[in-house]
Amino acid sequence: MRGLWLLLVFVAAAKAEKVFIGDQVIRVNVQSEEEIQLLRALETQEEWELDFWLHPVSTELPIDIRVPRSSLSSVKEYLDSHNIPFSIMIDNLQEVLDQEKAEMEENQMKERSSRSFNFGAYHPLETIYRWMDTLVAQYPNLVTKQEIGKSYENRPMYVLKFSTGGNKRPAIWIDTGIHSREWVSQATGVWTANKIASDYGKDTSLTSLLNTMDIYMLILANPDGYVYTHTNNRMWRKTRSRISGSSCRGVDPNRNWDAGFGGPGASRNPCSDSYHGPSAHSEIEVKNVVNLIKSHGNFKSFISVHAYSQLLMYPYGYSCKNVFHQAELDSVGRAAVQKLTSLYGTRYKVGSICNIIYQASGGSIDWSYNLGIKYSFAFELRDTGRYGFVLPADQIIPTASETWLALKHIMEYVRDHPY
Ligand SMILES: [Zn+2]
Repeated sequence: MRGLWLLLVFVAAAKAEKVFIGDQVIRVNVQSEEEIQLLRALETQEEWELDFWLHPVSTELPIDIRVPRSSLSSVKEYLDSHNIPFSIMIDNLQEVLDQEKAEMEENQMKERSSRSFNFGAYHPLETIYRWMDTLVAQYPNLVTKQEIGKSYENRPMYVLKFSTGGNKRPAIWIDTGIHSREWVSQATGVWTANKIASDYGKDTSLTSLLNTMDIYMLILANPDGYVYTHTNNRMWRKTRSRISGSSCRGVDPNRNWDAGFGGPGASRNPCSDSYHGPSAHSEIEVKNVVNLIKSHGNFKSFISVHAYSQLLMYPYGYSCKNVFHQAELDSVGRAAVQKLTSLYGTRYKVGSICNIIYQASGGSIDWSYNLGIKYSFAFELRDTGRYGFVLPADQIIPTASETWLALKHIMEYVRDHPY
């Protein structure tokens, strides 16, 4: 009897969701290069199990760190001893997660009883996949769902294709959720897909766009990671693949592309959140996208949506040199952000990945740009760190609505500047 009981406890513990009771997210504003180095030393200090939401890169940018409760006093002592000031952004992460979960459950009940879908809520994978079918059913002449392959854990990966006909028309690619914990990204993808479908035939500009071009949307670019954030660890960022020779799982799918692969700003350590993986395109989730984009051969724009920091970026990440089209991409980006800001005043920065955040190799938009897709952009959506990855659901629709203005500007520009 006792043996069975222990077994049950063990199974429950193995399945249990990771808790973050007492974990804090602290913000450090560094003043000097020396202080950046002191923060970098923390990144390699594995014992404290720090989770850098924003990495130490420059004195211009804040550093956000999730500190496990057990490391709080050590970290605070370390910062105090070097006279580095910090503030507490989130006092008890688990409280915020509990509230997020309660809201989701409440919403699920409402959706079940009203048989509706609330775009202002976060949803599990199955719900999003079911919603895709309703969208296709609602707009059969515009929207189709295509499976582009399976994930590592054998989940189907679906692309929504918005097309009014033709064969391999010039196309725009939008992916959301490649980093699974950036939930406002996937939620923005869902809202955006619905917006495209419902505005076609009503919005003149979008209608003209869809009369000559196709839009492809991959809303759950990292399905295994997304499920894992719902079931086991809300803070999971990577894929869920097994790495031979390591007990740590997962690869950073935005360090895995064949663009400066394995260079600066990616880790060779499988336990790191920015682990680049054993080889370029080792991740099936990445490979599936590569295959689709290459076999299609007529994508003119590639847009990848992340969170958080409020940035609109263009290549490169792996190099700090200007790309050939730097001036054009910069002006398109600035105009797009101006549209975005016009709705609620949300401020965005524009620049190349390397110059605006940090050198990061193996990123998707560097790969797409090198493939010849000139209009390659990456968004970092809301916020700037008040909630970070746990943006309250009541900000989904405002975030998606303002982002739409920027996306639409980029898409119209692509339509009007064929190449
Ligand atoms: Zn990301």
